[in-house]
Amino acid sequence: MPGRRAARLGSALTGGDRVSNADRTVLTGARLVLPTGVVDSGRLTVENGRIAEIGSTGADSSPTPQAGAAAGAAAPLDPGADAFDLSGCTVVPGFVDMHVHGGGGASYASGIAEEALVAARTHLEHGTTTTVASTVTGEIDEVCRQASVLSELVEDGLLAGVHFEGPFISINRCGAHQPDLLRDPDPALVRKLVDAARGTAKMVTLAPELDGGIESIRLLKELGVIAAIGHTDANYDKVLEGIEAGATVATHLFNAMPAIGHRAPGPIVALLEDERITVELIGDGVHLHPAVIDLAMTGAGLDRVALITDAMSAAGFGDGLYPLGPLQVRVEDGVARLVEGGSIAGSTLTLDVAFRRAVALNGLSLVRAAQVLSLNPARLLGVADRVGSIEVGKDADLVVLDDAHELVAVMRRGEWVVGSERLRAPARV
Ligand SMILES: [Zn+2]
Repeated sequence: MPGRRAARLGSALTGGDRVSNADRTVLTGARLVLPTGVVDSGRLTVENGRIAEIGSTGADSSPTPQAGAAAGAAAPLDPGADAFDLSGCTVVPGFVDMHVHGGGGASYASGIAEEALVAARTHLEHGTTTTVASTVTGEIDEVCRQASVLSELVEDGLLAGVHFEGPFISINRCGAHQPDLLRDPDPALVRKLVDAARGTAKMVTLAPELDGGIESIRLLKELGVIAAIGHTDANYDKVLEGIEAGATVATHLFNAMPAIGHRAPGPIVALLEDERITVELIGDGVHLHPAVIDLAMTGAGLDRVALITDAMSAAGFGDGLYPLGPLQVRVEDGVARLVEGGSIAGSTLTLDVAFRRAVALNGLSLVRAAQVLSLNPARLLGVADRVGSIEVGKDADLVVLDDAHELVAVMRRGEWVVGSERLRAPARV
């Protein structure tokens, strides 16, 4: 029953910052980061939640504006439109996070819809307009219940899918997953989880070396669900076998897998070198040194990289004690570690920070940063026809950044989520 529930939950996600009932919103003066290049003084029109026109307000626009563009500074402002002067700002596509467990003190693994919305809303306020909710290892029936709750939010358009991380992972590389609840990837169990998500399962992370691993990857491929290799102790050859069977993602490459050995290349080299694999990288500066991110971006090429948060509930919230599935996590100075054993337990990253780091520390151009934070994951998830880039016809999912690439405002499907009051402030208009 999408109707009423969607209205109630939808306003929980995007409500609170609606500033106008105008049919059109026009953004002028900003630098627009398109997949083909940057328009320096752009003009972007939003109608019915979608991007209707992209053009330039200035004389110099190196990339060709898209069809329908209202080029030229003389274009009169439409009196029926809600206009924003974004001079000095940069507009990038809303970020797509394909691996995130929670935020704002709330967790997707809680199995409570309102909590999931708090998490989604928190990341939305940091620019993530498309979210795949990740579960963690738990009892199979409990994870099925969580999937069922999350699937309703996907059906309502509030989340983009469900990612099962665990329980089909290696006990030697389980990180923040409870060891006694891990299971071999018996295809029947894999199918049970996927079925519980009622068509909204997007991805399952598993270790291919476990009993049933390769068979389960084949099954996932058949079901149209992404098989992701991660939390694995597999050697190089076993990972290649997993890729042959249909795996297309490396779950947080480098983390929770053996390091590269010069005589034992292991999963990392196999996943980096194979064109069929997109590698997730956690861009928080805690999980990976920036130089290692550089190495992965060079090794895989930027077409095959997706930056993720792998964030847990403390993201956008603060230090303290938090549950992560059945385990306890302590967050100090923004670093989340298991209370027992001290393993790093997810991040407190948000993608606006990941974007800034990718530009400042990894030297990515704005177009390339938008690619690894939005377009690549959108393509992988099969939603690039609607989101992932600033193009006419796509959802108006936009992030407005200032000249230091700090987040100023966020729009989802044409509605301002946060920041529109800052855009209206006299200093900026
Ligand atoms: Zn994770």
